[in-house]
Amino acid sequence: MTSTLGIAVIGTGKMGSDHVRRIGRTVGGARVVAVADPDGDRVKEVAGALDGVSAHTDPAAAMAAPGVGAVLVASPGPAHEETILQALERELPVLCEKPMTPDTAGALRVMEAEQRLGRRLVQVGFMRRYDAEYERLKELLDAGSLGRPLFLHCRHRNVASPPFFTSDMLITDSVVHEVDAARWLLGQEITAVSVLSPAATSAAPEGLRDPRLVLLETSGGAIVDVEIFVNCGVGYEVRCEAVGEAGSARIGDGHAMVVRSAGRWGGEIVQDFTVRFADAYDRQLRRWVAAAARGRTAGPGAWDGYAAAAVSEAGLRAGRDGVRVAVELVDRPALYR
Ligand code: NAD
Repeated sequence: MTSTLGIAVIGTGKMGSDHVRRIGRTVGGARVVAVADPDGDRVKEVAGALDGVSAHTDPAAAMAAPGVGAVLVASPGPAHEETILQALERELPVLCEKPMTPDTAGALRVMEAEQRLGRRLVQVGFMRRYDAEYERLKELLDAGSLGRPLFLHCRHRNVASPPFFTSDMLITDSVVHEVDAARWLLGQEITAVSVLSPAATSAAPEGLRDPRLVLLETSGGAIVDVEIFVNCGVGYEVRCEAVGEAGSARIGDGHAMVVRSAGRWGGEIVQDFTVRFADAYDRQLRRWVAAAARGRTAGPGAWDGYAAAAVSEAGLRAGRDGVRVAVELVDRPALYR
């Protein structure tokens, strides 16, 4: 008998290989036993760097490999639903990178599968909930120290977008983080979305609407504004300022170390999310492993993935048609209350 949780990692691109490395080095109590990716060369390379890891091009085969007790999904969003449903058929706990599914129809199917099982096994990789600064802001808001929240001012900037990035993905793959963070920080649902787009930066690839300003209205009467700018050229910057009736608090300024030298002072601007949120990814994975080893899940779940997909869908319409779009959610099933 071993108490080590065997994990199948599905998708071995940037995030998947980072998670594989993390499970091997910084997260105890677990080890990768199988990996899957349709890119046969890549999956063999990732598996080959580790001992006792089987390589597969079919996710189902990886999940069926001996010793698999949980599944980490890091394939592109449109592939998530099929893999999650296969994992649920095997009653395996799942940590799925965001977005859980790109659309609400897929998210509802995931929730239906969990409800048939009668227990929650899906966690969504909204890892900002595990970032130390976000956790402190959440504590402050929950304690009422800022009074009733009125605004969240959010900034989300990347150095440059990957070649496959589309204008829709600014909302479905990037702003989706702020959507979940806002719902979690405020303990409220998003009720309506508007999207404004200035003239695109000349640094953006032809046709990409970048940057964009996304306005979210919440069930508690707060407004969340999100500047999403994925070709800002400067650094990876994620900031959030909460403004309440009794004060404000800001996170993400990145002033951990200020260097004073040669008549100047300054700091470093992190270039990549794997660096800025390294601790959050570690903490997310540790807590997921601890829960999954008991056949449970503890973090943001399928309801959160569904709510985020509903906001994304409304955001896509708002961006396309230039109108404010209300977010309609189904009644929250008992399993998720
Ligand atoms: P990537 O393109 O680097 O890697 C994706 C990998 O999945 C590729 O190797 C591809 O061959 C493989 N793949 C494609 N279809 C597959 C399938 N059906 N089954 C298994 N593998 C398949 O992309 P990435 O940046 O690693 O993103 C992966 C996921 O992680 C996405 O959902 C993305 O939104 C998410 N992500 C999360 C964060 C975060 O901060 N939490 C950051 C970046 C990306």
